[in-house]
Amino acid sequence: MNLESPLDSLKGIGEKTKHLFETAGIETVGDLLTYYPRAYERYEEPASIQDLPQDEIVTIQGMLTTPIVNRYYGGKCISTTACSDGSGEVLLTWYNMPYQKNSLRTGVTYIFRGRTKKKGKRLLIEQAAVFHEEQYEALTTTLQPVYSLTKGMTVRMVQKAVKQVLASLQPSALASENRDAQDTAALNNNTTYADYLPEELRNRYHLCSWAEAVSQMHFPDSFDSLQTAHRRLAFDEFFFFLLHLQNLREHREQETHSFHIRAKGAADRLIASLPYELTGAQKKVWADLLRELQGEKVMVRLIQGDVGSGKTILAVLALLTVAENGYQGALMAPTEVLAAQHYDSICRLLEQSGLPYKALLLTGSMTAKQKREAYAQMESGEVSIVIGTHALIQEKAVYHALALVITDEQHRFGVRQREMLAQKGSTPHTIVMSATPIPRTLAVILYGDLDISVLNEMPANRLPIKNCVVGPSWRPKAWDFIEKQVQLGHQAYVICPMVEESDLVDAENVMEYTENIRKALPAEIHVEYLHGRMKPLEKNEVMGRFLRNEIQVLVSTTVVEVGVNVPNATVMLIENADRFGLAQLHQLRGRVGRGDAQSYCIFLHSGKSSEIAERLDILNHSNDGFEIAAKDLQLRGPGELFGVRQSGLMNFRLADVYMDADVLQLANEAVTKIIAEDPELSLPEHREMKAIYQRQKNRQSGQISL
Ligand code: ADP
Ligand code: MG
Repeated sequence: MNLESPLDSLKGIGEKTKHLFETAGIETVGDLLTYYPRAYERYEEPASIQDLPQDEIVTIQGMLTTPIVNRYYGGKCISTTACSDGSGEVLLTWYNMPYQKNSLRTGVTYIFRGRTKKKGKRLLIEQAAVFHEEQYEALTTTLQPVYSLTKGMTVRMVQKAVKQVLASLQPSALASENRDAQDTAALNNNTTYADYLPEELRNRYHLCSWAEAVSQMHFPDSFDSLQTAHRRLAFDEFFFFLLHLQNLREHREQETHSFHIRAKGAADRLIASLPYELTGAQKKVWADLLRELQGEKVMVRLIQGDVGSGKTILAVLALLTVAENGYQGALMAPTEVLAAQHYDSICRLLEQSGLPYKALLLTGSMTAKQKREAYAQMESGEVSIVIGTHALIQEKAVYHALALVITDEQHRFGVRQREMLAQKGSTPHTIVMSATPIPRTLAVILYGDLDISVLNEMPANRLPIKNCVVGPSWRPKAWDFIEKQVQLGHQAYVICPMVEESDLVDAENVMEYTENIRKALPAEIHVEYLHGRMKPLEKNEVMGRFLRNEIQVLVSTTVVEVGVNVPNATVMLIENADRFGLAQLHQLRGRVGRGDAQSYCIFLHSGKSSEIAERLDILNHSNDGFEIAAKDLQLRGPGELFGVRQSGLMNFRLADVYMDADVLQLANEAVTKIIAEDPELSLPEHREMKAIYQRQKNRQSGQISL
């Protein structure tokens, strides 16, 4: 048996279990082993009932004050009692667990664990888990894995199967040299596996073995050993990702193209027609782009610049230069709203500068007929500039002469999507634009397949955004402030975390909020809402009206987060700001301060803990995306962040670009060294490495397709 073997080669896994596992994507023994817990719980010491917070998972220790009463409503049973620890009392209820009545007695001390809820003036815990003292004590000293389970699966099922495999794990590094040994291993029903990392490398980078790491992920001995395991597996993930990047880079460095592109004046004419002067950084990056467009090699370049640094105009300049040479250029955005906005501003720029090129918008929400027409114009070469969403890379999209592909807010797109788009032409030039706050040292590694240009300068007319971090009592003042700004001719955004009211989450929602603020503001101020569940057409329509200042106050979810540009908006009010990550808040704030008027960002938090205010205060003092990300990391510390995705910007399974930045550097060092010594991975000690890499590549969707 090896990691590729089907699940039913394990003992005790019948058809039913096999099927359950399959629905969770577990098909082989290897899948099972790498079905890592999504989090770990450590059971905390019981808290005193009088201090219990509301709406949090708590543990209490006490005795039932009354015997359990079962009541039946339409076939459903509700069991009720109360628990006291001397300091206070909480209500306990269970649904459809009538047997609790017989299993729990008054006069015996139990431990209950569950989420608190307010019920009138009292606190209630529903469906509490029940433990005896000794039982619970054992739990407080260990980390409990939490798996993502699909219906019917249980933790026990996963752990039992994993345990069986772990017990039979046998390294096959030697066995693969020797067929007999492998056969013997198979006879013994051992699971053979190979640690692709030679011991020498493991020692050099202080990494534990793969088997040890996997075992600790499922059954951690301690927080330390879990971290060690995580480090090793994060290394693996980075390692194969970087190996893939090296491959891509090498591949493209050999690529030449047959485009003849020369600057013939269109870009200069557009620059001359702009109401502003390009910043020094924009001029420098434009020079990079122009040089490469005119060069012999295929360009693959990342433009990295904080929100508002003016990336769009560079895209337009490049698209125009391609167009004036008779080729086509495509600009792909992650959302319809953003694509429509780019389309509008490009049309305006074309008009304003009197340039004769035709642009076209192509999005998923267009009717089949509209799309057909668009495709026809692309194929005939009638349009030179195509702007859109994913629709740009769908099979039906055929280009006449595609020479340049630009993707905006690149971290939302996968490398694969980029590759697909590139296949639409004879290897067109590629530009990706991103505001992702990554320090340059990491960007150089993570975008190793790209050349990088940095826009490190903001347009000069920008006044720094004024920020404030306040509690909910400040809301009326914030609304007054919005009213005043609107009277000065400006516009405002209000961000709420939720679309509609929810029983589960206590946070502001767009629908109710819109009604409330509408009532509070004078009737001539037009308030509208925007959220992700609206149809793309409706969203575009609302954004269009906001852009034309027909709407003054836009209440929205985070759908406006990426790239939206309404320079006349000067207020960003973020409700429940504590529910968002700092990087996201920074992106949201980037929606204002885009014109020459003073802009304001108000972070309104739920006002519970001082820690939240402290964290938000980072935003108060910095407008720099890189710095914010770094400080956020510092303030939270690795313990708290364990298993929490800080960046979420690259889809690694376990690794996190920020938190595992040191491991990323090591993996990069290792890959660079190995490739220098053995570019084809043909040495015997790299055989397993190569096999794993090939397997991952064939799986495509897996770990390396970022
Ligand atoms: P981002 O880099 O976040 O994509 P945009 O390209 O949307 O930023 O630019 C933000 C705003 O700044 C736009 O309204 C744009 O017209 C304006 N802008 C771009 N470059 C300059 C400049 N050099 N001087 C003044 N305003 C500029
Ligand atoms: Mg942008």
